[in-house]
Amino acid sequence: MADRSVPDIIFTKVDEAPQLAAASLLPIIKAFAAPAGITIGTRDISLAGRIIAAFPERLTDAQRQPDDLAELGELVKSPSANVIKLPNISASEPQLVAAVKELQSQGYDIPDYPADPATPEEKDIRARFDAVKGSAVNPVLREGNSDRRAAIAVKNYAKANPHSMGKWSADSKTYVSTMGSGDFRSNEKSATLSAAQAGPAKIELVKADGSVSVLKSNVNLHAGTVVDTTFMSAKALSQFLIEQIEAAKRNGVLFSIHLKATMMKVSDPIIFGHAVKAFLKPVFDRHGAAFEKAGIDPDAGLGTLLERVAAMPERGEIEAGIKAVIAERPPLFMVNSDKGITNLHVPSDVIVDASMPALIRAGGKGWGPDGMAADTSCVIPDSSYAAIYDEAIGFFKANGALNPATAGTVQNIGLMAQKAEEYGSHPTTFEIPADGTVRLVLANGEVLHEHRVAEGDIWRAATTRKAPIEDWVKLAIERQKDEGCQAIFWLDASRPHDAELINYVKPILAAAGVTEKFQILAPREATRLSLETITRGENSIAVTGNVLRDYLTDLFPILELGTSAKMLSIVKLMNGGGMFETGAGGSAPKHVQQLMEENHLRWDSLGEFCALGESLKFLASAKGNPKARVLGNAVDAATQGVLDHNKSPGAKAGQTDNRDSHYFFARYWAEALAAQKDDAELARHFAPVARALAENEPEITAELAAVQGKPASLGGYYRTDPAKTAAVMRPSATFTRFLGDLEASSRTAAARPA
Ligand code: NAP
Ligand code: MG
Repeated sequence: MADRSVPDIIFTKVDEAPQLAAASLLPIIKAFAAPAGITIGTRDISLAGRIIAAFPERLTDAQRQPDDLAELGELVKSPSANVIKLPNISASEPQLVAAVKELQSQGYDIPDYPADPATPEEKDIRARFDAVKGSAVNPVLREGNSDRRAAIAVKNYAKANPHSMGKWSADSKTYVSTMGSGDFRSNEKSATLSAAQAGPAKIELVKADGSVSVLKSNVNLHAGTVVDTTFMSAKALSQFLIEQIEAAKRNGVLFSIHLKATMMKVSDPIIFGHAVKAFLKPVFDRHGAAFEKAGIDPDAGLGTLLERVAAMPERGEIEAGIKAVIAERPPLFMVNSDKGITNLHVPSDVIVDASMPALIRAGGKGWGPDGMAADTSCVIPDSSYAAIYDEAIGFFKANGALNPATAGTVQNIGLMAQKAEEYGSHPTTFEIPADGTVRLVLANGEVLHEHRVAEGDIWRAATTRKAPIEDWVKLAIERQKDEGCQAIFWLDASRPHDAELINYVKPILAAAGVTEKFQILAPREATRLSLETITRGENSIAVTGNVLRDYLTDLFPILELGTSAKMLSIVKLMNGGGMFETGAGGSAPKHVQQLMEENHLRWDSLGEFCALGESLKFLASAKGNPKARVLGNAVDAATQGVLDHNKSPGAKAGQTDNRDSHYFFARYWAEALAAQKDDAELARHFAPVARALAENEPEITAELAAVQGKPASLGGYYRTDPAKTAAVMRPSATFTRFLGDLEASSRTAAARPA
């Protein structure tokens, strides 16, 4: 096994597009870091890697992998942590099942995912898979709060080279609808625990007949923790969905639902399943029993349902029924109209934080089944945060699209440390099995919160600890001081959870003497004020909870910069280490498809470049390594160079792609190192590299261009073949040879006595 000593910088191994990009970028980073004596290592947090690590006893020595995620989860609590964290798959059930199938086909004896575990063995297997599923990585690693913004160079570039924006017109029929009663927002209860209330609590269901079943015991609660509970009524949800389907039909718009079935891995697939059932209600009324018998689970989506139906004896009748119902329903918002993939096909295909901004950027249009853009009904069942999209849509209808050439920026300081506000993604979310009352019972026997629930309701608890809240307010104060601009706590005093947070925020601001520098506004009002502010060209800081951290760091960057991939995204680990996330976007599955079809990778590594610069500069101060600072400053110059010379990837085959942009990044990095005056040794080392990379540009770019336009084979999707991936991602023999020489020469240099 490879050396497990902790390298200076850990660059995580992930999935999909960012992992392909890493196959090209990581060798560059290693070659450039070597002369400074900086070690770069990887830890595997990919979906395939997590699955493999969960079943060691079934695998051969060669197949087995350590639990890197657990190791990293410990490392982020140490002051020396320095992690570059790329986006990974938060797996929905269909993705997990597909990954298992692929690993099995590669000879890994991974068990099938048990959809309905019955035996103790199946329950054990299911528990291991559940730990891998959904948002399994970020909550473990995020031992700090988040600081996300566009680097100044990136923002200036976006202003000088504005991306295209869809037109908004005042008569757009696009709208957001949300429940407003019977949902999580309306049923929420919240309290901050005193010391006497701390200790292991339990969650129990008291059924109508008086019997009590414990849903979860040993929920360890600390003094000062804000504890929320709430539930979504299944009945209210179904009724709302049916009304919204009918309304979309009446209004002549596409129907779409926007959820986060990946991160909110327990609650949102269930809500998605309700939408599938509501849309196909007549079919479920007629064939519900047969579906159940065939093990069809609407939560997995229409795509899986259609596959399963195709294998049923009553196939013909059911398919005809589905077709007839769909013909009567409003047209569905499409994920891919060419391939017939609808909004209801796959729960993880439409993820609210990316899907709503993309629709807003496009002028409020979605794609219909006819392949045409059309106005859309956007259903966001829970009303906690739907108002931000509703307000944005209203604002752009009234004022026209945002102008990226003149717009200011919205930065974010987000509360997320120690699993703060992890709503719906946690082992404290349940689909209620029977009518009754759910109670959260504290260690001292006191019932903190209780709700009357019905079978099928989705009940959840979330906690937010004291130290992370205080750290978050402190970060907000620092950032506001640095920027000097408007700063808003996006908190709704009328919402129970937010009211508890406000009780923390106000005294800390007062003690620091900065009360008048901050506003506290509910999400709708904060959205309006922030949009008015950036429309004037001024900046604003959004100080938000965890969910809005996620949503806003897609919404504003997608409007301002065209993408959330170019963000600087720093996690200030509470114990002193640093974690640098690469942008605020995900792993762009569409990009992998394009690479496999036409060997063009349009993934933009700007997020990785920004994170690398920050990580090196952090290393310089954390370990007193001045060479790391020189390298980090040169990374910033190289990033600027990639932007100034327009070397970011284009969307189409034949254009500059990810690999070309890495070559230019390396060249500008070498040029900046050769030109700097802080470290003569590094300057001497990189001068010939810079020259050689420039001189060989025609050869290298020709070698890179030659491969585009033809299909590429990676030997897998979730677990690609390393040799095949390297061959695809490093097609320029000339460039590969230079990097090899560079690493070898620094080994020789290191071996020479100083
Ligand atoms: P996404 O991967 O961000 O994709 C949405 C779109 O954003 C892409 O199709 C692409 O647009 C654009 N995009 C994102 N990153 C880009 C980059 N570096 N360069 C160029 N374009 C970029 O969001 P998603 O579809 O919601 O999520 C996909 C997967 O990522 C899911 O499995 C999700 O769980 C995971 N995810 C992980 C994290 C994390 O680990 N921090 C965060 C979010 C999502 P075009 O198609 O127009 O090029
Ligand atoms: Mg997001």
